[in-house]
Amino acid sequence: MTALPPGSTIGILGGGQLGRMLALAAARLGLKCHVYSDVPGGASDVSAASTIGPFEDLEAIRAFAEGVDVVTYEFENVPLAAAAAAEAIAPVRPGLKALAVAQDRLEEKTFISALGIPVAPFAPVDDEASAEAARRVIGDAGILKTRRLGYDGKGQVRIRSTSELAPAFEALKRRPSVLEGLVPFAYEVSVLVVRGLNGETRFYDIPLNTHKDGILDTSTVPSPLPPAHGDRARDIAGTIAAALGYVGVLGVEMFYVPEAAEPLVVNEIAPRVHNSGHWTLDACLVSQFENHIRAVAGWPLGPTDRHSDVVMTNLIGADADRWPALAAEPAAALHLYGKPDARPGRKMGHVNRLKKTS
Ligand code: AMP
Repeated sequence: MTALPPGSTIGILGGGQLGRMLALAAARLGLKCHVYSDVPGGASDVSAASTIGPFEDLEAIRAFAEGVDVVTYEFENVPLAAAAAAEAIAPVRPGLKALAVAQDRLEEKTFISALGIPVAPFAPVDDEASAEAARRVIGDAGILKTRRLGYDGKGQVRIRSTSELAPAFEALKRRPSVLEGLVPFAYEVSVLVVRGLNGETRFYDIPLNTHKDGILDTSTVPSPLPPAHGDRARDIAGTIAAALGYVGVLGVEMFYVPEAAEPLVVNEIAPRVHNSGHWTLDACLVSQFENHIRAVAGWPLGPTDRHSDVVMTNLIGADADRWPALAAEPAAALHLYGKPDARPGRKMGHVNRLKKTS
């Protein structure tokens, strides 16, 4: 295994805040980043180089890959054709398998349950006949989610009774979907696992996550998850990472159902650094971003230990207008993503509020 030396260039497909924080972490290690994005700003603002173009322009993707030593991605909806074009020229880490599995909820749930890991009951919905079959399996209440391109609660509709299924399918524009049974969870957690090029895995502490309007609101560490269940959660995430031959940081979102025989139910995986790991920037020696960079560059992984208790709060839309007060808070680290307009529902930044562990 050869590590890319300082001065090497990491290509990042995608140019949002995750790419931006990856680029900042890479810079700390003396590595350069070249961002490929379909929008300017964001990660490009803090990277050595950027290419702005559509992901469908495979010539441009190939030219980008020629100029870098390894390619990673910062969002899971990078078209597979773009990742494959890059892979023909430079190693892509994590690989295409993780991308393919995470892009399609049906593939994802099928893949995870085949590993013997619990997921919510699910059934495909493609038309009236499969909707009826799904209703028979799942029951009357559930959530209909599009297979592709759903995020932050978008592309999904709650179903409370049988009669709501057909209108929900219409509301999702009859796109191929999955009907999921409702999981009666006590709370939601996520596991952030980093897997190195040599297969070594390390885990961050498990945050408890709360959502507002379908968007992550807070991640709190430590979470109240009992230690034995924490072990099981790590075991699940490690199993998924290994099965994907994964390199980098993987986020695994889980529902916690304390009384169930299988108390941890996987909701979804994110083949990238994850919003519920942003607290690692200030509460750990080496953040999820740096560990992702280390992994894809073939470096030794850094410590994932946490030195402080922390609550990460997302700044959504106009929340970021409070930056002067947030910047003045003691024991708070403010992160702003440099986005020009604070549209409602847009992730503008986050704040990590720390309390030293004794
Ligand atoms: P998702 O986009 O799949 O992450 O779903 C967004 C949020 O909806 C989750 O964080 C949960 O709070 C809730 N949710 C999604 N799927 C289920 C489910 N099967 N049972 C209960 N709640 C769910």
